[in-house]
Amino acid sequence: MPTSTGAAASTNPPLHPSSSTGHIRLTSHAGGFGALPIHWGATTAAERGPVVGTTTKRAHRNVIGTHSGSYSVYRALAVAAGALKREHKADLTNTAPTDVIGPYPQWSEPGRIVSLDPWGALVADVFSAELAAGYDIRPTIAITKAHVILPEVIEALQKGRLKADGKFLTAGGAALVTKAAIEPVWYLPEVARRFGCSETDLRRVLFEETGGMYPELVTRSDLEVFLPPIGGQTLYIFGNPRDLANPDVELTARIHDECNGSDVFGSDICTCRPYLTHAIEECIQGAQRGGVGLIAYSRKEGRALGEVTKFLVYNARKRQVGGDTADQYFARTECVAGVQDMRFQELMPDVFHWLGIRKIHRLVSMSNMKFDAITGSGIEIGERVNIPDELIPADARVEMDAKMAAGYFTPGPVPDAEELKKAKGRGLSE
Ligand SMILES: [Zn+2]
Repeated sequence: MPTSTGAAASTNPPLHPSSSTGHIRLTSHAGGFGALPIHWGATTAAERGPVVGTTTKRAHRNVIGTHSGSYSVYRALAVAAGALKREHKADLTNTAPTDVIGPYPQWSEPGRIVSLDPWGALVADVFSAELAAGYDIRPTIAITKAHVILPEVIEALQKGRLKADGKFLTAGGAALVTKAAIEPVWYLPEVARRFGCSETDLRRVLFEETGGMYPELVTRSDLEVFLPPIGGQTLYIFGNPRDLANPDVELTARIHDECNGSDVFGSDICTCRPYLTHAIEECIQGAQRGGVGLIAYSRKEGRALGEVTKFLVYNARKRQVGGDTADQYFARTECVAGVQDMRFQELMPDVFHWLGIRKIHRLVSMSNMKFDAITGSGIEIGERVNIPDELIPADARVEMDAKMAAGYFTPGPVPDAEELKKAKGRGLSE
């Protein structure tokens, strides 16, 4: 055990979660008095009511699951290890957002936002009375400011593609951003509708396919909001966040799905980091033109199949007869995972509606799935910006060819069947 945990345990006596009462506290029946109702999509925060996912006072809970997405499991470990008092309540002093987002009309348009809480950043303000009355209400969104420094941006400065202005980009290559972290909050009736299934089926399958993790999914049909144990989203905004909701201000945007191997470690089998840094460059230029830029980064590693599946697929691609070819690109994923993709862009546009966006002037993405989801949700898209050819790593040519052949946007020629059969990826030992 780490010494810090030991030190914490010595000042805070270890808590023995179930032995103090001798029984496990079930959540699968109504807890009693005090739970506030949630009216999803109501016009005001007061009518909507707070999302209460606390585990400190179970009678107050009005949702299934708990805060922090997948990190809720670490919280449980901290309690189990005696490092965290289970009754700890967050002190929200000075945590208020640096920039206020909304409220916007989309927040109460039926079915417009179903996978995040639009009031999630404002809880300390809009639910101050409930907090004062003892409800443990936690923000599901936090908004702050930062400087981001990337070697690609510094290189763009040195090559003259970007110019420092001291406002959006410093001479040292730091871009000034507003950033927001968002935890998922699902309103189950409308999530089911998005996926074309019944709410009953959605609840049962979520229960069964997580090994029975949340019994209330099937026992508490009165609880309609679920805090799923999955990763959320991070937004990076270049320029004034209020301008995002103004369709007359040019908006450059990219929705980027996490790829740790490329985004962080620079693996060259895909185009993720080059596309991300290209989009950041476009966002900075857009802000300097008087517009606003947005990167929405979703924790959907490996097309939401996870990194283990992703690496298995890499091996299968590179070991197959004929080598790593674009015509087998999607087939190899499907062999391992059973599907080609589990990112389900259906929920993705919610974040744009939270920001009040009605028009994206320049979408830095070639994905037809993202394009269809955004336009299908009622947001207009102007121009689509593809990744410049010179930014595509050699080993990522397989992925690019396969995606273009499958319908991804490209202003250039789509590779034909002969082209797709050519082995362009490196072997495993090269
Ligand atoms: Zn990637």
